[in-house]
Amino acid sequence: MDTSDIIHDGVSIKIYSADEPDKVVISFTDDITAFYKIKKAVINGKGVWCNNISSMISRALQKEGVPTYFVRQLNDTQQLCYKVNVFQLEVIVRNVIAGSLSQRLGLAEGTVPAEPIIDLCYKNSSLGDPLINEYHAIALGLLRKEELERIKDLTVKINEILVPIFKSIGITLVDFKIEFGRMPDGSIVMADDITPDSARFWDIETGERLDKDRFRNDSGRVGYAYQTVYERLKTLNL
Ligand code: 5GP
Repeated sequence: MDTSDIIHDGVSIKIYSADEPDKVVISFTDDITAFYKIKKAVINGKGVWCNNISSMISRALQKEGVPTYFVRQLNDTQQLCYKVNVFQLEVIVRNVIAGSLSQRLGLAEGTVPAEPIIDLCYKNSSLGDPLINEYHAIALGLLRKEELERIKDLTVKINEILVPIFKSIGITLVDFKIEFGRMPDGSIVMADDITPDSARFWDIETGERLDKDRFRNDSGRVGYAYQTVYERLKTLNL
């Protein structure tokens, strides 16, 4: 593909225009960064594993009636998706306390809250994607109130679909980040890839981290973590 038609030159994904004007090609790379790009590396195979993980999850969600921007997997590193207007909002679901919430509230990692927690963050990397509440999201004009309600409903549904899928392959879905977008007809779709880059996966038996925290924490065997999630999901034929 000609790189002149690149729409978004990200680290772990690059977005290209597709032959059909209402779609884009999302291409997954082997690059990994953390701490707002201060830490960088290349993990051979990561693009293939993430594209496959994301495609399997998108198909599973669509099968259960969740609208997503995913159209189909094109090859090992690329998927075709609908072009959508993505809200400047990150939605984080937390089934187990970890990461920034653990630090912010002084709670031990691994604490299970009485019910899943949904955080909203303003997607603005120069501000560090700050935590906001629903009032901020509406007042800042990030989206309309009814769109936020729809996103909350879809987020709960996505979590309810994914938790048992991961449990069935011996993985606790600790937390994950998703974004949403508006289709040309005004409908709301999940517009994101769920991968070990954007979610925390812990092995149920051993507690082993199977996600980007291995890179953030210098635990080593980062590729092994991504490959393990990919291989276990593959057994489900999603
Ligand atoms: P935390 O708030 O602990 O940093 O992150 C919670 C979860 O959301 C983690 O699984 C983390 O990987 C994901 N997450 C948070 N912010 C981002 C982001 O800007 N990009 C991606 N890909 N994932 C994020």
